[in-house]
Amino acid sequence: MDFPLVVPALVRRARTLFGHRPVSGRRPDRSIARTTYASVLERTRRLSTALAGLGVAPGDRVATLAWASQEHLEAYLAIPSIGAVLHTLNLRLHPDDLAYIVNDARDRILIVDESLLPLFEKFRAQTTTIEQVVVIPSAAAGSDAGDARDVTANTGAPAHGFLDYEALLASADLSAHLEPVIREDDAAVLCYTSGTTGRPKGVLYSHRSIVLHSFSQGIADSLGIGERDVLLPIVPMFHVNAWGLPFTGVLFGAGQVLPGRYLDGASVLDLIVRERVTLTAGVPTVWLAMLQELDKNPGGHDLSALRTIAIGGSAAPASMIRAYQERHHLRIVHAWGMTEVTPLGTVCNLPAGLEAAPLDEQVRYRARQGKPLPFVEVRGVADGVEVPWDGQTMGELEVRGPWVARQYYNVEGHDSRFSDDGWFRTGDVVLIHPDGCVELTDRAKDLVKSGGEWISSVALENALMAHPAVAEAAVVAVPHPTWDERPLAVVVLRAGAQATADDLREFLAPSFAKWWLPDRIEFAVEIPRTSVGKFRKSVLREQYKGLYADD
Ligand code: AMP
Repeated sequence: MDFPLVVPALVRRARTLFGHRPVSGRRPDRSIARTTYASVLERTRRLSTALAGLGVAPGDRVATLAWASQEHLEAYLAIPSIGAVLHTLNLRLHPDDLAYIVNDARDRILIVDESLLPLFEKFRAQTTTIEQVVVIPSAAAGSDAGDARDVTANTGAPAHGFLDYEALLASADLSAHLEPVIREDDAAVLCYTSGTTGRPKGVLYSHRSIVLHSFSQGIADSLGIGERDVLLPIVPMFHVNAWGLPFTGVLFGAGQVLPGRYLDGASVLDLIVRERVTLTAGVPTVWLAMLQELDKNPGGHDLSALRTIAIGGSAAPASMIRAYQERHHLRIVHAWGMTEVTPLGTVCNLPAGLEAAPLDEQVRYRARQGKPLPFVEVRGVADGVEVPWDGQTMGELEVRGPWVARQYYNVEGHDSRFSDDGWFRTGDVVLIHPDGCVELTDRAKDLVKSGGEWISSVALENALMAHPAVAEAAVVAVPHPTWDERPLAVVVLRAGAQATADDLREFLAPSFAKWWLPDRIEFAVEIPRTSVGKFRKSVLREQYKGLYADD
């Protein structure tokens, strides 16, 4: 049977099977609002109808500028359901970049959190394509403040062209609800890369890629998501679809918890406990922060429902994986992904035999990025030649598969990130072990080349973060007159802890060749972050580029 793999089929399934499953979210006033899929999907239908009523046609882009919330989930489902393209804007980008992205995508409608109107005002004048702005009120969804609300009360912006989200839903004429024919290769979602060099580039996800990617998160050797789960994506809904978890939750009927803007360790921990979350996901910095909270009061939080903390976006330090497992009996599942891969490409689950192995051995394996998901194929390439899967030879990771991008949106001509034989060049340098488990050694641009030899910044960072006094560590290459480049470590110490550069070098010494050890270790109050919470190494490279200028 020719049955298209499309987002509306996920929605239909949830409507018929999972109406009772919970959806909750942290509101801007920190209260928690609780509802069900039945209500969310009813409102989704209203939003679809209302957007079609505003003239949104298949293929049109509808942007969101919003934290994770029930309404954002409604937009995730409603926009692709009418064949339009959901375009999530990263609210941590510079206003000039946001304007560029909106214009590049030719977004026609913007759905924006009331609390983010001041941000929108910073780039509104530079946008040329937005026709209507729909404002999600800060008060609880479904509150009756709807029609009367002055949506611009806090910003002073003129009300013309602004619509209230609740009023829009209320006005939807459901008798006019249409379900257009959608092909599985049609575009469903558009995200821009958070790349730190050059202009952000758009990646379009088809309905088919979203559906297959959602399936892949359900299988046992991936995240094993099912109806019994309650998902808490800490990765924002504006970063690669919160790793696709909102769609996966709908497909399998997993409950969803949407954390709003409160992403600090204490708030995340509180939500996990209160909503009895079973699986949560985010970048390592979030889990380093939560670990500090847990360590303040070991055993003081009821985490009995939590089965998995999925970590990706940057390398999960082995010391953190160990600390969670050893001190708090929590299992970390390390995964690798990219905007261009929808995003999940590999997931690290312990293979047969290792479940009973000593903790050290388990942790060493869990710190790898994992095996490719079904239909995702990987290879390492160095100097144009595929490297052996021997766990030793480094090469650039290339991937292909049904949810790997074929090209960038709106970019003419051939892009060198895509190989002639149809693979995507990730820019990540990896070893592939004989069992197919991928281990990332660095971003190509973050490797340190010292005296002609490569030093992995990730390996040094991981080792430094295992020191009890170290909260965070980033290692970057800085130019050196003799060695070409040398590694520099920038370290943030834990509150109240002390360690000198010599202490840290001594700590590293048994694990590395002498020439790998950073000659300079700088202490800092914080490490600059990218818009999605990773270390922004480009800032450190710039800041310290003259370190050896006088040597
Ligand atoms: P983004 O497209 O913003 O999600 O960034 C993708 C990049 O994040 C990848 O190319 C990797 O460099 C990095 N990344 C993602 N997951 C991991 C991981 N588990 N370990 C190390 N780096 C990762």
